[in-house]
Amino acid sequence: MSRTPAPTTSPWARRADSAVHGYGLYASKDIPKGTRIIEYVGDRITKSESDRRDEVRRARQEEGDDGCVYLFTLNKRYDIDGDVSWNTARLINHSCDPNCETEYAKGGIWISALRDIAKGEELNYDYGFDWDNFDEHPCRCGAPTCCGFIVSKDQRWRVRREIARRKAEKKGREFTTKKWKFRPEQNPMAKVRWGDLMQLKARLAGDPKHIRTLAVAESLTSGQIQARIGLISGASTFFHGGITAYSIDAKVNQLGVDRAAAEACNAVSEEIAIQMAKGVAQAMEADVGVATTGYAEPDEAGGVKRPFAHWAITLKGARGRWQVTTGLVKGRNLSRVAMEARVADKVIAALVKAVHPAGRESQA
Ligand SMILES: [Zn+2]
Repeated sequence: MSRTPAPTTSPWARRADSAVHGYGLYASKDIPKGTRIIEYVGDRITKSESDRRDEVRRARQEEGDDGCVYLFTLNKRYDIDGDVSWNTARLINHSCDPNCETEYAKGGIWISALRDIAKGEELNYDYGFDWDNFDEHPCRCGAPTCCGFIVSKDQRWRVRREIARRKAEKKGREFTTKKWKFRPEQNPMAKVRWGDLMQLKARLAGDPKHIRTLAVAESLTSGQIQARIGLISGASTFFHGGITAYSIDAKVNQLGVDRAAAEACNAVSEEIAIQMAKGVAQAMEADVGVATTGYAEPDEAGGVKRPFAHWAITLKGARGRWQVTTGLVKGRNLSRVAMEARVADKVIAALVKAVHPAGRESQA
């Protein structure tokens, strides 16, 4: 009788309840992009054995089993069946905008980091399923690019087309694939940097005992930062809220910005951004304040030739001290819409860095 091997472990990951599906694997520390996190192990089986096991799985699924698929192509002759107790990597869930990928290395299959991953983030990769029978695998990953089903990225357009066809059929409308066209830009959030949002969530709320709260004050981004944060599942655990303050009066009255300083620069300067960030953090009793102010398009009368924006992030420290980070975003040749989106994306990326727990300790 052969002994069952012990479950695989990784210094980079730990298992825990997943918000998405059953158990999941989570980053136990910050993981740099490209890191091989854990090997995907299992029974090495021939292709014909693999087909046979897939048949068994399908039959079980028809009887109400959850029908998880753990079969992996290893090479031309063999597959790996990862449905074994010692394959810890089988706990990793699918995401349509994942932070990991599978990689062939050292004669096996590895789960590797696609980007920098923050401690506390759930690990996930694109399962790469074919789109046929997509109904069998609904997806709840929450990414803006999610099509609602676990399907390989390059085939998701087929699922969207099929869903559109079914909708048309239900309404008795004619549907032709010629007419059908999916335009991702119709969803303004489709290009949001999901990875930054997932890292931000882990940084602020990854440790339930040490949640740091956030408030946002926006001028030129006019709610775009708040809209991005609102996409994060469970955002209410750390996001207190935000204010869009366009006029000088709004900045002065709602955020406590100094009127004379604001009037001197049309409320566009690094100092005003800092005052806005501190003001909103205080108004909403949040640990972290973030603010933007600037020009989303040229202003001939004001002598502004190109769009630019100041942003500020303020972290409440010990004894009423603030840790402040600021930046400037230039928007040469950008449209108003593109400039606003760029500033919102840059500020969220800056937030991920600014709220790094190690960074905070070193400043204390
Ligand atoms: Zn998804």
